[in-house]
Order: sequence, then structure tokens, then C-alpha cells
Amino acid sequence: MLQALQAGLGPIDNVVGYLRVTVRRTAANRTMRRLREQPVPEIFDMPVEEDSSAYDHVNEGAVKGAFEGLPEQWRAVLQLSALEGKSASQVARHLDISPASASSLLYRAKEALRTAYLRHQVSSDSPECTRVLHRAIDAMRGRATSRYEELIEAHLQQCARCRDERGHLAQLNSGLPNKKPAKAESGCH
Ligand SMILES: [Zn+2]
Repeated sequence: MLQALQAGLGPIDNVVGYLRVTVRRTAANRTMRRLREQPVPEIFDMPVEEDSSAYDHVNEGAVKGAFEGLPEQWRAVLQLSALEGKSASQVARHLDISPASASSLLYRAKEALRTAYLRHQVSSDSPECTRVLHRAIDAMRGRATSRYEELIEAHLQQCARCRDERGHLAQLNSGLPNKKPAKAESGCH
């Protein structure tokens, strides 16, 4: 099956168009979600802000680079689910894995795409600044340890360019779904 996907895999332009459309649809999707509590198989499906005009522009190069850099199986699951609209059970049959594995794989692939998308927006040519900004992105996506947060803050205090870049990345990130939206339902905070 993966071979068939590889042969027919040419969805890069589709991914760009797909992400652009879903970013524009975010506010509408949130309303839809309130009405029917079913997961929508989209990548950018949980906006933080109602006004999506700031996120209308999707950086095509970043999308392509992010998608192409993902492991093959993750690209496959994103193509089947997000681009072709297949359900988790259909994806499971295609990839010959259990539905639970398919759901888990899709979840991880979407998050990996979001993180990679943000990483591809980093424009610094300094290895140290790039490393700090990648860690800052991890923190935004809920993955950093406090050890890294101290390193990030120490660097930002002395690097104005990274402060600016982080602000830009945080704005982009605010247009993406949270890593674990289920947390919001757990009643914490
Ligand atoms: Zn820096």
C-alpha cells in the first residue's frame, strides 16, 4: 500500500492548497465543532482566535518543506486522512494497522506537521539562534522542559532578533490547533 501511495504521491501542491483553505475555515470549524462534537480530520482545525485574517497567508515553501521532511508513513496517513478525507478505520485498512493505531498515527503526524511548519519559518542563519528558536517552538507546542526554557530566556534577553522571531512564531502558532485540545475539557485551570 505504501508503494502505491509513493507512486501516486504528488500531493505537495494539494497540501499547500489544503492548508490555506483550512486556515481560512478555522473560525467556521470551531462553530461547527460546538454543534456536533465529532473530530474533523483536518490539520489546522482548532483556532485560538476568531479573526483568522492574520493567518490567511500560508507560507507555501514552509508547508512543502515541512511535509516533505516527515517520515513516509506520516505523509501517507496525512494524505489519506487530511487530503482524501478517509476515516480512521479506512486509513487503518489502507495501511493494514488497527484503527487505534491509525488514530494515534494521525494525531502524531498532524502535530509533527505543525511543528515542522513552524520550524521552517525560522530564518536565522546562526546555528545557535536556530537551535534556540527550535526549542522555543517546542515550548509553544508543549514539549520543552524547564531546563530548555531557561536557556531560551537567557538567549532571548541578549538577542533582539530572536525576540522578534519568537514573537512572529508565537503569532503563527496561535493560529494552529493546540497539541492536546482534550486538556481543555479536563477542567484544569
Ligand atoms: Zn538569537
